[in-house]
Amino acid sequence: MELVAHPQSSRPKFFRVQFVVRTLVLLNFVTNLATIILIHMFTLMCKDLGLPNCPYIAKGHTEDEVVSMMLEHAMFTHPERIKEMMVTMTEEDVQEMMRDKIRREI
Ligand SMILES: [Zn+2]
Repeated sequence: MELVAHPQSSRPKFFRVQFVVRTLVLLNFVTNLATIILIHMFTLMCKDLGLPNCPYIAKGHTEDEVVSMMLEHAMFTHPERIKEMMVTMTEEDVQEMMRDKIRREI
């Protein structure tokens, strides 16, 4: 019975260490995630989409953000080009094509 009592007394210390380690691992994970989100940028140039005279560059933290920015720009600034594309492509095709041209910057 005395043998059982001894290991129990050292248990809370072990849990405290485990808690600190878990907290540090979690903190590290959150920091890495923040770095990825804040530093990595995605860019898409209008030039790469067949409009060499347009200086517009869509920049964002996610590919979806960049695609929707470019779609908005293209519909507003190059409606004739969008109409031309829509003859042979669906909106999904256009988005897919844009996604392929996205560059990842650090
Ligand atoms: Zn443009």
